[in-house]
Amino acid sequence: MIQTKKPRTLAEPFKIKMVEPLRITTPEYRKQTLQKAHYNPFLLRSDDVYIDLLTDSGTSAMSDHQWAAMMMGDESYAGAHSWEHLEETVKELTGMPFVLPTHQGRAAERILYGILGGKDKVFISNTHFDTTRANIEFTGAQAFDCMNEESLKPDTLLPFKGNMDIEQGRKVILQQGAENVSAIILTVTNNSAGGQPVSMENARQVRALCDEFGILFVIDGCRIAENSYFIKHREAGYDGRACRDIAREMLDLADAFVMSAKKDGLVNMGGLLVLRDKALTEKCTNLLIISEGFATYGGLTGRDMEAIAVGLKEIFDEDYLHYRIKSTEYLGSHLRDKGVPLVQPFGGHAIYIDAKDLYPHIPQHQFPGQALVCNLYVQGGIRCVEVGSVMFGKYDKEGNPVNAKSELVRLAIPRRVYTQSHIEYVIDVFDDILEERDKAHGLKIVYEPPFLRHFTARFEPI
Ligand SMILES: *Cc1c(COP(=O)(O)O)cnc(C)c1O
Repeated sequence: MIQTKKPRTLAEPFKIKMVEPLRITTPEYRKQTLQKAHYNPFLLRSDDVYIDLLTDSGTSAMSDHQWAAMMMGDESYAGAHSWEHLEETVKELTGMPFVLPTHQGRAAERILYGILGGKDKVFISNTHFDTTRANIEFTGAQAFDCMNEESLKPDTLLPFKGNMDIEQGRKVILQQGAENVSAIILTVTNNSAGGQPVSMENARQVRALCDEFGILFVIDGCRIAENSYFIKHREAGYDGRACRDIAREMLDLADAFVMSAKKDGLVNMGGLLVLRDKALTEKCTNLLIISEGFATYGGLTGRDMEAIAVGLKEIFDEDYLHYRIKSTEYLGSHLRDKGVPLVQPFGGHAIYIDAKDLYPHIPQHQFPGQALVCNLYVQGGIRCVEVGSVMFGKYDKEGNPVNAKSELVRLAIPRRVYTQSHIEYVIDVFDDILEERDKAHGLKIVYEPPFLRHFTARFEPI
């Protein structure tokens, strides 16, 4: 952070060398566009979006160093120096001896959980991310989320709301039999629980639980750099420590590390599976070669591997991490001050709005979250995603809708993409949203696929 006499605007610790023009559109145009997209922003063309907060995954801006490294990409089939660069970087970061490159996070999950899973097997986590759960359940195994009741409440102010509930985990182990538990997976930060951090103490407790029962400890560390920043600033004994060292301390506790490089890898595509055990590595490598590619590139090109290697160093820049977390917090605190109901404390990569609270007149089966998503697009050209009954709603045996527990809207912040003034703009658009709060109306679904309906469902306004 640039040091000045008094605290100043949160200015970016980077400047811009290449620009990507954004199209300026009118509310009238966006109204028509949204109608053509059946009121589902996943069906919009990105050219029609001004600020795209759909996801932080694969949307990072790469640095000049990353682009320069890409020119050095060695595209040899085997033993490329780009592979050596990536392998060395990952070994140094994790302290783990075996590195497998994959095309993205879920490919690493498919390989690892394909081998560890199977019928009668059990996995335990703070919260399984949806691709993690899907890859586990696809093998016939069961996935148990173990979260404390207090952490699940939207506004209890706890420093580490991403933590796993150790006692619940122990109960699952005792009920299912330790011999059936394939792994405990700690997701840091806890993506599906609002990007909330996990403490080092919790990771130590998970290690102890794994040792007690002889279970493999996996860290799903897509956002381990952001998590380390929270530990540095919230957990006793970590003040003044480098975030990179904090990440290493956490990884030293684990047996395996799975990472989607599309998040804290600061690249647009890529993933990693990193292991300590040689026998397990051999099994995983066989599957990697069958399904992804040879062991020295997996699912990646030489230039991809160069970009990840550089990204994994840049992500631990203390000034970058400070700016990153503060910028998310800035958006959250300004929306909160305007009276927008939010999930608190704010996570690392996204702000979650409580749409049920914002639009109390819209019943849950008319999707208040989707209504807000649509209004943000029409009012401001902002694209984001509903995390509520559209995403998680189901039907019971009689075909009646079963609503989700909460109706949230996620504003995910791409890394290094938008400037502070873009964030100010998003905050300003909420003035219009609040002003027209009472006029907001619900939607009904007119088409939906059998699985993951939020991606392709079509709506009509009520
Ligand atoms: C994104 C993500 C994954 C899956 O990674 P992809 O690169 O999207 O396949 C797994 N776990 C968590 C916590 C994630 O955020």
